[in-house]
Parts: sequence; C-alpha cells; structure tokens
Amino acid sequence: MTTPTDTSTAGPLHVADLVKVYPTRAEPLRVLDGVSFDLNVGEALVVMGPSGSGKSTLLSILGALEPPSEGRVTLDGIDPFAQGERDLARFRNRTIGFVFQEHHLLPQCSALENVLLPTLAGGATTEDVEARARGLLDRVGLSDRLDHRPAELSGGERQRTALARALINAPRLLLCDEPTGNLDRTTATEIGDLLAELHAEQGVMMVIVTHSPELGGRFERRVELDRGRIRESVGA
Ligand code: ADP
Ligand code: MG
Repeated sequence: MTTPTDTSTAGPLHVADLVKVYPTRAEPLRVLDGVSFDLNVGEALVVMGPSGSGKSTLLSILGALEPPSEGRVTLDGIDPFAQGERDLARFRNRTIGFVFQEHHLLPQCSALENVLLPTLAGGATTEDVEARARGLLDRVGLSDRLDHRPAELSGGERQRTALARALINAPRLLLCDEPTGNLDRTTATEIGDLLAELHAEQGVMMVIVTHSPELGGRFERRVELDRGRIRESVGA
C-alpha cells in the first residue's frame, strides 16, 4: 500500500489498479478493470484499442477530470482526488495539458488569446507569459497567425494552436486523445512530427491515445486497452 508521499517504487506517474464502472439501467458497465502502469520523466505511452474500449475514460481519470471507481493515480506523489475542489482545479490547470480530437478553441478569441487562456487562472497576463505564448506559437509554426481566429485557421493550424495552449503552463503530463483523428493524412503526419519533437524537447510525460499506427509508431512504448486491461508491447 503506497501513501501519497511514498514514491520510492513508483514512477512520477503511478497508476494502480484503476477500475471505472458506469452505472447503467442494465448491468453496470465495467470500462476499466484493473489498469496499472508507471511513467517516468520524459517517457511517452501510446494507448491503442478499439472504439469504446475506455481510452477516453482512462485519460479523463489521468487528467483528474473524473475520479476512478477504485484504484489510484499519483503524479509526483500527489493523489489529485485526495485534494479539495480548489486544489484539484489548480492541479488540472498547472500540471496537466490536454489535446483532444476536437480543438476546443474559443471561436471569438485569436490564436494568441486561446493559448493565453490557461494562464488567466494564475492572475493578470504578464509580458513574460505573453512572450512565452508567442514563443510556443512560433515553435508550432504559427508566428504569422497570432491574430487569426479558429475559423480563420486550417484544421492542422487549429491543432497546432491547441498544442501550444496545452503546453503554455509547462505541464508535467500532456494527455492527447486522438490528436490527429480529424486531420487528413499529410496534416496528421505533420502534427505527429511536431508531437514527437515537442516530446523530445520539453521532456514532458505524455499519454497519447490513437488509432493511428503511424502516430503510435513514433513512440517506443505502446499498450493496448483490451477488455478493461492494459496489454504491454504492442507491435509497431
Ligand atoms: P474510447 O475512448 O476507447 O472510445 P470511452 O472511454 O469513451 O471509449 O468509453 C468506453 C465505454 O464507456 C463506452 O462503451 C461508453 O459508451 C461508456 N461510457 C463512457 N462515458 C460514460 C458515461 N459517462 N456514462 C456511461 N457510460 C459511459
Ligand atoms: Mg475516445
């Protein structure tokens, strides 16, 4: 039994015996049935598996959006669900970055404003923060699109903006849920390149859910979610 401060045997991200059961009118739905893994600093884990296998459910637990029915997640020894609402919200904002299949950018805000949104919880936007946002948008290849609103960006550009937004608070853990799922093949390859580069550069831990063998193949560690459990070493 580990305690919140006991990280001696666990990776910075320690996932132990996660179970998620959704109540339904018929049988309770046991979506996760004992998921365990550890992730070290700088590691990326790719999670594959058919639609409905619980991949998004797993990510929402890792991202502290939803508690597990049983089991535990700790990040740097902290169990987010053991905290109060306020600390939990802060944990999500500061520690976790999310990229979804849909970009979830605010339509009325420019690319730059969208990237700055997660910093607003920390108080007024400082020049440093804005410089960091510009730097990240430059890094994802959008230095000449800062003032474009999402409707004025291509699908790939929107996903690049979403990536910059996910990284603005320098998260410990970046969670990507089918990040190339809505993109054409060429654009998906570009976003895959960018994800792999950012992973190498930023040393951020990543969990990436994807159906794409091309995206999955860029990262060393792949698992499959199968009947609520993790199967290690999925082939390339
Ligand atoms: P995936 O992302 O692998 O496609 P999900 O994690 O979204 O799978 O969903 C796994 C299963 O759990 C699906 O059968 C889905 O219908 C069910 N499910 C997801 N969220 C809920 C919920 N809030 N309530 C009830 N069932 C849910
Ligand atoms: Mg999903």
